[in-house]
Amino acid sequence: MKAMQLRQLGEPLVLTELPDPRPAPDEVRVRVAACGVCRTDLHVVDGELPNPKLPIIPGHEIVGRVELAGENVDTLRLGMRVGIPWLGATCGVCPYCRQDAENLCDRPLFTGYTRDGGYASHVVADSRFVFALQEDVDDVATAPLLCAGLIGWRSLRMAGEGKRIGLYGFGAAAHIIAQVARWQGREVFAFTRSGDVAAQKFARKFGVSWAGGSDERPPELLDCAIIFAPVGALVPAALKAVRKGGRVVCAGIHMSDIPSFPYKLLWEERQIISVASLTRHDATEFFALVPKVGIVTETIPYPLEQANEALADLRNGRLQGAAVLVP
Ligand SMILES: [Zn+2]
Ligand SMILES: [Zn+2]
Repeated sequence: MKAMQLRQLGEPLVLTELPDPRPAPDEVRVRVAACGVCRTDLHVVDGELPNPKLPIIPGHEIVGRVELAGENVDTLRLGMRVGIPWLGATCGVCPYCRQDAENLCDRPLFTGYTRDGGYASHVVADSRFVFALQEDVDDVATAPLLCAGLIGWRSLRMAGEGKRIGLYGFGAAAHIIAQVARWQGREVFAFTRSGDVAAQKFARKFGVSWAGGSDERPPELLDCAIIFAPVGALVPAALKAVRKGGRVVCAGIHMSDIPSFPYKLLWEERQIISVASLTRHDATEFFALVPKVGIVTETIPYPLEQANEALADLRNGRLQGAAVLVP
């Protein structure tokens, strides 16, 4: 198999030939058809997340087909079209696993971070965390749903039922979640980097009521906001934009420090919460919703060998939509 592998933090990924991996009894080997590029991959590559497996093959928005299955696998068949997300395995016995909060598991494995991921022609995954996908959709178009879609969905649920919702950072996750929120009958307000007219124009394609810079005040106070950009200064900005009792959800795995801010921004029962990882239940729920909403993703395909270029384009804010690697 071939893979784009990170050998040392801070260095570019290297195209590597590796022996075809063998699945353990509970695992499957999947031939990768497409793998989305997520901002979390940048955090992994940059060493912003603690204790990555090294060398590591990044990538956790994987769409492919089952090629080989271990002897204990009875939920997936050979040739089946599947998705592999960020949550790669959980312990099943810690208090979080036992209380239906496996996203907070004490001993988890994460695809493309603590176990090898999908920047490759093949990947081996724990079959209990691999799920079947619809047959009649496009591989590349589906890949961003595996994280941007799933984490976005969990964030949207955590934001509550508010009618007016702000999305800070209008990239892969926001363009998917804006469609779900619109379908739910909400009004969406898109916040981009100040002066990023192209991103604001991109946001308007998805039916948002308003698009502007994150330093601007929306025309009306919001009921809730989700922060997708990894920028701590957006927390006080979003608190200023939500009404009394409003909620601000931090959706990223990593964020720059949140600057100190006057207590009155939080006062009046405003809330700040974060979203961590996903549960398998989130995935089932979200993928049942995808065809109903008719989600359309905006993707920019790159050959697998150009993973470094895709990461650089994401880092520099050059993407409108989601980069997807194709082996
Ligand atoms: Zn656990
Ligand atoms: Zn991700």
